Amino acid sequence: MKYISTRDNHPPVSAADAIKMGMVPTGGLFIPSYIPSLTKDEIFSKKYSSYQDLAVWILNLFLKDFKLKTIKEIVSQAYCKENFPTKQITPLVSLDKNTYLLILWKGPTAAFKDLALQLLPYLLKQAVLKTASNKETVILVATSGDTGKAALEGFKDVEGVRIIVFFPDQGVSKIQKDQMLTTGGKNTSVLAVQGNFDDCQNAVKELFANQNFNKLLEKNGYQFSSANSINWGRLLPQIVYYFAAYLKLLRDNNIQEDEKFNIAVPTGNFGNILAAFYAYRMGLPVNKLICASNENNVLTDFIKRGIYDIEREFKKTISPSMDILISSNLERFLFEITGHDSTKIKRWYQQLSDKKCFTIDQETLTKIQKLFVGYYAEEKEVKKTIKNTYQNYNYLIDPHTGVGLTSLNKYRNESGDLTTTILASTANPYKFSPAVLHSIKKDVNKKNQYVLIDRLNELTKIKVHRGLADLETKKHQHNKKINLKDIKEEIKDILKLK
Ligand SMILES: *Cc1c(COP(=O)(O)O)cnc(C)c1O
Repeated sequence: MKYISTRDNHPPVSAADAIKMGMVPTGGLFIPSYIPSLTKDEIFSKKYSSYQDLAVWILNLFLKDFKLKTIKEIVSQAYCKENFPTKQITPLVSLDKNTYLLILWKGPTAAFKDLALQLLPYLLKQAVLKTASNKETVILVATSGDTGKAALEGFKDVEGVRIIVFFPDQGVSKIQKDQMLTTGGKNTSVLAVQGNFDDCQNAVKELFANQNFNKLLEKNGYQFSSANSINWGRLLPQIVYYFAAYLKLLRDNNIQEDEKFNIAVPTGNFGNILAAFYAYRMGLPVNKLICASNENNVLTDFIKRGIYDIEREFKKTISPSMDILISSNLERFLFEITGHDSTKIKRWYQQLSDKKCFTIDQETLTKIQKLFVGYYAEEKEVKKTIKNTYQNYNYLIDPHTGVGLTSLNKYRNESGDLTTTILASTANPYKFSPAVLHSIKKDVNKKNQYVLIDRLNELTKIKVHRGLADLETKKHQHNKKINLKDIKEEIKDILKLK
């Protein structure tokens, strides 16, 4: 299987190259040239497979240039007991008889990014080996909070790799910041940027596409790659858990073989929900995909009206990992849903860059609306959902999951659709303790996030995620704050480019 560019501006490449390059050097994203489709029987035959076996199965369909043996090794290293202490890897928790939380935060950094970022370093290492490159790989990461730490953990001290993380200084939570800044490792750099996530992501994408800068890197023995969901290697592992969740429903008789189900995903960069879309295209019987946004509700408007308009206020919310206006992976999705029409993609993305807005044609919109619905949650609604979920089900959810559940409830109320639904639970609640505690208990006045973790723990008796338990006492290893315009110079400095 080859990988092609959404903008028809690059020859097809192997999976190894697509992963190694991260994105198309001249702009655009790599996607598989076709989507492997599975029959019902093929899917049902995996009903009793382990998560690891499912991962090998799915990865093998997309990584045709990797040996099966290599994929098996990669999977067993990534999804080992130390990284994911629960046997199911992504357990399914029932809230009520037609609502299931897909728990994606059992990994080391307490957010769903671990599922992909524990695997990506191994994939990348193999990809570099396969393409006989002797260059050191520089992973550039722009993060809205969770990718940064997950990528740092995944790539820390990996040979032949440097990782440089940029996060919006005012745009992540104290805990997220501490998680990143306390990461050791000889090959890690973490920089706080004055700007928001979109600024960071744009700067990084521009550097990827900057021919001169790439030449300079090459001259110095480096090549860029990405750990953001613009890298196909980030999306691919995420397809697996939707299969795992569906098969678990089947296994437990919570859904019948001829029945469809819905998937609801709290969305930022449109990565996680795109993985759900691929799972659907591969053969999962999905009825609706519910795209949930916070008050940065660009995607909600887009799905409703077909207009992607980023000319609006950027809002800082209690679900910071979704404070995004430019959802990179929407480009991949639009390429798929238009039947690989790169002319349209190029036109729309040119308009987005010129006018901060584009409008899709009615035919495409109709196709999208057949499968997708878009809803968003306001801050006070999210808090109420967290509170209600705790009171009614004795289950604690984080604000991102809260956005998802609020949106799901709105969809159900409006549509009357009570199809069994899997909701992606994307972060452990302790990662966002202040917002969670404020939601379930009104009179909280302490500001220190670590005191609030303890309070939340005293109140709920729910165990604190291991990745957060001793964070307060860890020393910061990084302390640099930079301006947006200096990102390039900082990279030159870090890599000592000449
Ligand atoms: C990254 C993230 C999201 C958004 O996922 P996308 O793939 O960017 O849509 C949602 N919730 C949490 C906790 C995250 O870290």
